[in-house]
Amino acid sequence: MRYAGVTACFRARPPSSGQALHRPLGVSLMSLRISFDNTYTRLPERFYARLDPTPVPEPRLVRLNAELAQFLGLDPQELVSPEGVAVLAGNQVPEGAEPIALAYAGHQFGQFVPQLGDGRAILLGEVVARDGLRRDVQLKGSGQTPFSRLGDGRAALGPVLREYIVSEAMAALGVPTTRSLAAVTTGEPVYRQAALPGAVLTRVALSHIRVGTFQYFTARGDVEAVRLLADYAVARHYPEAARAEHPYYAMLEGVIARQAELVAQWLLIGFIHGVMNTDNTSIAGETIDYGPCAFMDAYDPATVFSSIDHFGRYAYGNQPHIAQWNLARLAETLLPLLAEDRDAALGLAREALASFGPRFETAWFRGLRRKIGLATEREGDTALAEDLLQRMAQNAADFTLTFRRLGDAAAGPDGDAAVRSLFTDPSAYDGWAANWRRRLAEEPGEPEAHRAAMQAVNPAVIPRNHIVEAALSAAVEHGDFGPFEALLDVLSRPYEERAGFERYTAPPRPEERVYQTFCGT
Ligand code: AMP
Ligand code: MG
Repeated sequence: MRYAGVTACFRARPPSSGQALHRPLGVSLMSLRISFDNTYTRLPERFYARLDPTPVPEPRLVRLNAELAQFLGLDPQELVSPEGVAVLAGNQVPEGAEPIALAYAGHQFGQFVPQLGDGRAILLGEVVARDGLRRDVQLKGSGQTPFSRLGDGRAALGPVLREYIVSEAMAALGVPTTRSLAAVTTGEPVYRQAALPGAVLTRVALSHIRVGTFQYFTARGDVEAVRLLADYAVARHYPEAARAEHPYYAMLEGVIARQAELVAQWLLIGFIHGVMNTDNTSIAGETIDYGPCAFMDAYDPATVFSSIDHFGRYAYGNQPHIAQWNLARLAETLLPLLAEDRDAALGLAREALASFGPRFETAWFRGLRRKIGLATEREGDTALAEDLLQRMAQNAADFTLTFRRLGDAAAGPDGDAAVRSLFTDPSAYDGWAANWRRRLAEEPGEPEAHRAAMQAVNPAVIPRNHIVEAALSAAVEHGDFGPFEALLDVLSRPYEERAGFERYTAPPRPEERVYQTFCGT
């Protein structure tokens, strides 16, 4: 398969677009305190470029994530002040920040691009959060950098809000993810297919080290940098690997384990990342770089939403395979660190990579068992779960609702009607349900407890694509942020069914269905 021509997802900046404004002078930042504690800037200069964000004409706060701010030890009141908004827009650099754009490479749709890098993002610095873990605070859409290639360095409001919504929904669903601290509009248009309002997202991540960061140095034959980066990643993300007999091997195993768990979690909630390039694969194991991502409505493993994924490389059901492919690219970069002898290094890399399959399957089947209410493990459980998925696929059953309503069916056969109605041929459910009930009867606990356990893992609401799109177009086309705010509220407690929220839990009507999502730029 070839993916020729699909290397980047942004358009060249039109010659008419404005020049960077000068930094506004004389704004006192005395009231804004961010306790930066930066470490990436202690790595050699070839790891990044130092530069300030490019100011924007009219910053306006769309949304601040006050809870996340507090978790990071930041004061929400300060962040919503004019000084705070100036920082979130990139118009002011707060004290202690050391703004940098990170260098990285990556395989995009299978093709290697030796230099990508933060083309429109700037890492302001790092803070240590309440959980004791370090977080990057990054502005995305903050202007051109030495890595911008032909891009304008900016982000459009729609994709910024999409990333905000979906990343926060993922966090509430319990999936490792980068977070969204704030969104601001810039008062400046960005030019895509049309002129769109520009925006900046403040993203928070365990780090921005990607598989592609390792590839960047390997492509340059810079083994010393690969080693420094690996040492840094071990210290920051895999401290237990530092104490292992072979720290680099232990780190590779750790990354593989986190990715296997992560992709299993995606599949268990029907999430499709859309652009699983190696530059979008986090070493820390978080979901990162929300572009044309989407949640599946009707279950079909071949589902693809991204308008640029012409061959279904990143289809829902292909994601474990691609994660493993991406991890093989990481393993390649670590070969010189794994052993002096190349064959020995290859053997170790293969051994580590072979652990992906079993780890993924363990996480996936453990999750599936819980989704159908089985706390214990018996022979035939995986076949039972797979049989359900097959029937769902054949009958276009809504992924989220089927599992959610199954919880009610576990409490008693009265619940069956609502599940079977989701199948084009309801008898496909009946056949499965008879087997399921027999198996469920072997589980300890009362039916009500089964329901409660199932509802704790089967969300009632996910960011359904048609609802997300409606919230984005209200904001972008009409400046109405009400639907965006309402959606964030609903998604903050995804395992709860709240009265009046039927609109958010229902699958799209045929005329509402979204078939394609567009690039996140
Ligand atoms: P993404 O598809 O967002 O993961 O981005 C892939 C690469 O393209 C990264 O190196 C980005 O920094 C770069 N990029 C995406 N959009 C832009 C843009 N508007 N201006 C400059 N670089 C961009
Ligand atoms: Mg990316």
